[in-house]
Amino acid sequence: ATPTALLVGTGRGAQLGILIKGPEVLESTRRIDTIVLDKTGTVTTGRMALVDVHLAPGVDRAEVLRLAGTLESASEHPIAKAIAAAAPELGELTEFGNVEGLGVRGVVDGREVVVGRAALFGELGELAEAKAAAEERGRTAVVVGWGGQARAVLAVADTVKPTSAEAITRFRELGLRPVLLTGDNEAVAREVAREVGVDEVIAEVLPADKVDVVKRLQDEGHRVAMVGDGVNDAAALAQADLGLSMGTGTDVAIEAGDLTLVRGDLRAAADAIRLSRRTLATIK
Ligand code: ADP
Ligand code: MG
Repeated sequence: ATPTALLVGTGRGAQLGILIKGPEVLESTRRIDTIVLDKTGTVTTGRMALVDVHLAPGVDRAEVLRLAGTLESASEHPIAKAIAAAAPELGELTEFGNVEGLGVRGVVDGREVVVGRAALFGELGELAEAKAAAEERGRTAVVVGWGGQARAVLAVADTVKPTSAEAITRFRELGLRPVLLTGDNEAVAREVAREVGVDEVIAEVLPADKVDVVKRLQDEGHRVAMVGDGVNDAAALAQADLGLSMGTGTDVAIEAGDLTLVRGDLRAAADAIRLSRRTLATIK
């Protein structure tokens, strides 16, 4: 391989909005057959909005929004930003902690508040129906509770990027098998997958386990590309044969990847793979 031809390839990459760590990266794209896509912030915009509030009997809406919003104001998660933005006022936060892949907990106005997936709670009671209904509509159901009891379900919605479906079509044209990978629940993941034309979904995966999904696919004999944007994608991006990070994502993810898609447009991932295959063909 002549280094010059590879560098021409990387120069073209920059024009397409793809940053390549080093020319040797291109070599690893050659036999990629599977492309694993993180959902939030990669296939979707990651800009969430609060679209519905369901209260348990006797619970005050403003109180739910104040307690949940205060707790979420300390989190960087896109869901947290949506909930914090919907709070009319903030209370006093004296303790805060992330529960990896599940949510957040802390003390607000002297009360122990938990916000996140239903798995953080024992019983949802009357709220179970609201949760199921929200998820059926492809929304993320976020449970808010305090004093050890679930008090409300917040329906949060994200939107699919307008370019994602076309990107998936291009992956298929390149002979790649797309797989959607997310920590979010199965119903939400299926809805997003349906919208963009992906058949294979691996949902409810804890952040630490995303890397194991990539390893498993590799053990099955696949050459795997992974596209992600979040801190929770970094290990999987590093493990993949080719790690592609969204330029709109976190620094940790960008560092873990081999390629950066500057504009956060998934179609650039297809461009990157096509470009590198072509570049390699030139130098063979
Ligand atoms: P993804 O893989 O989709 O980027 P994460 O692994 O970051 O998602 O989170 C998995 C799930 O945990 C989210 O879909 C959400 O239901 C819940 N969750 C995580 N962090 C928070 C938070 N700060 N507030 C509410 N829910 C959260
Ligand atoms: Mg993400």
